[in-house]
Amino acid sequence: MQSSEEQKEYDFVIVGSGLGGLACAVILSMEGHRVVVLEKNHQIGGHLQVYSRDKSIFDTGVHYVGSLDPGENLYQFFKYFGVLDKLKIKRMDEDQFDMIRFDDGSEFAYSQGLEHFEEKLISYFPAEIDAIKAYCAKIVQVCSKFPLYNLAISDENYQMDGELTGMNAHDYIASLTDNVRLRNVLAGSNLLYAGVKEKTPFYVHALIMKSYLSGAYKFVDGGSQIAIHLSRVIRQNGGEIYKHKKVVSANYNERGEVSEVVLENGDTIRGKQFISNVHPAVTIDIFGSERFLNVYKNRVQNLENSISTFLVHVTFKEKTFPYLNYNIYQHHIDNVWDGVDYDEKTWPQTYFICTPYISKTGEYADSMSIMTYMNASETARWAGTFSTVAEPGKRDAEYDQFKKEKEQQVIRKLEEVFPGISEKIKAVHSASPLTFRDYIGNRDGSLYGIMKDSGSSSRTQINTKTKISNLHLTGQNISMHGILGVTVSAFVTCFAFVDKDKLIQKVKNA
Ligand SMILES: Cc1cc2nc3c(=O)[nH]c(=O)nc-3n(C[C@H](O)[C@H](O)[C@H](O)COP(=O)(O)OP(=O)(O)OC[C@H]3O[C@@H](n4cnc5c(N)ncnc54)[C@H](O)[C@@H]3O)c2cc1C
Repeated sequence: MQSSEEQKEYDFVIVGSGLGGLACAVILSMEGHRVVVLEKNHQIGGHLQVYSRDKSIFDTGVHYVGSLDPGENLYQFFKYFGVLDKLKIKRMDEDQFDMIRFDDGSEFAYSQGLEHFEEKLISYFPAEIDAIKAYCAKIVQVCSKFPLYNLAISDENYQMDGELTGMNAHDYIASLTDNVRLRNVLAGSNLLYAGVKEKTPFYVHALIMKSYLSGAYKFVDGGSQIAIHLSRVIRQNGGEIYKHKKVVSANYNERGEVSEVVLENGDTIRGKQFISNVHPAVTIDIFGSERFLNVYKNRVQNLENSISTFLVHVTFKEKTFPYLNYNIYQHHIDNVWDGVDYDEKTWPQTYFICTPYISKTGEYADSMSIMTYMNASETARWAGTFSTVAEPGKRDAEYDQFKKEKEQQVIRKLEEVFPGISEKIKAVHSASPLTFRDYIGNRDGSLYGIMKDSGSSSRTQINTKTKISNLHLTGQNISMHGILGVTVSAFVTCFAFVDKDKLIQKVKNA
């Protein structure tokens, strides 16, 4: 990479190689633009990164994905990107891809396909047939208001529909039935969006539920393959991707447009347009806080992020634990909305369990991931430390001890779900809010970024365009998180540069 006067000017400089950054780079490079992606880490992909310990591969931020049945939205987006047939995926159990499990041992399966899901729920709660049918119909109705999720273009903007964005998930579900168990089953996978009773909008719940009901798959041998295949497409189209390139600031021309970004080592990268895949609050710091209007800056920097996580990864002794082709959402409390507001002594009260599918171990699980909620305040003592592969740093022995204790707390709870599991475990590893903070480059290791709030929906919606005419945003903080949400947000970002009707037509024709 050059850093001299004659340095080239890219059409697009993309800061961050999370899925949003890579998807924008694919779309724009396919349209003939000259793109460069700058990533601060040793590995591309952001939350798509995997890491290995004791010869086992662990996903950091993608355990399963929905909408991958033929013709579904993500299937079609990935097909357009040219990566669909390269991805190694495994369809999860038709009859139970997710299991909602309570402390009394009762289990409720989610089945694939909306009709199948509905039938299954009715079999558990026959007296609640009307509530279940009304719920499923509402999911379909709400999702139909999001054109891009239906591979359609519309000038209607759902963000302007206050009735839709202001509808609260907890309240809507509670309004359907007095059956407390059914309410909790319907919201039982709310770790998928770190659901908060007073805040989570129903549309967030609906889009995510519908997506998983439309084809739930795991990535064989880890989710980093998405980033790898997207990066190949970008390079085939003449795009460039550089690792170990942390963007720290920006320079401007006399028209007030960004002319170049400055890397940590002082190098500069020139471009016509800039897209930030970094959290908007951090983007403001990088691109110069004085360049943004106070009202925007204050809003963005004061928005609440979703809670963080403590992610435990265990590896099993050979052939001791079966591979589970479904996930478990375990609730040691009756009200599934209370897990996020946990009590430290009885933590974890709610968590997600999955066994990654590893080709070499097949019917036996190589490992298990257990995702729990954790507030960043629990690791605040070490907030002044930093450690990634690209920028190694040390945290103290007390931090290691903290992690060990938390790991043991999780394993003790896991014993209640799978008695005897401890005997089968070879090793335990974990990632704390600090791990996520350092690898992703946000401020608090938030699971899914900016929290949507049904009570003040417009405040939590961030536009892809900024006041700086050639600075745009993408990624999970814009529209929605998750593989599907971020892919959709990349299209929204690119609509500023590409004819949207033609682009969506290309996706449909892919
Ligand atoms: C524990 C966990 C489990 C999850 N499970 C699932 C799941 O099963 N299914 C699903 O669909 N979704 C899941 N998600 C959500 C999903 O992974 C994310 O929403 C999505 O990957 C975020 O993509 P993004 O484009 O916003 O970029 P991010 O992944 O946030 O990446 C941002 C990138 O920017 C880089 N960066 C930051 N600052 C700089 C800088 N100054 N210079 C250069 N580069 C920089 C970072 O290093 C990073 O690579 C999960 C998330 C978590 C945390």
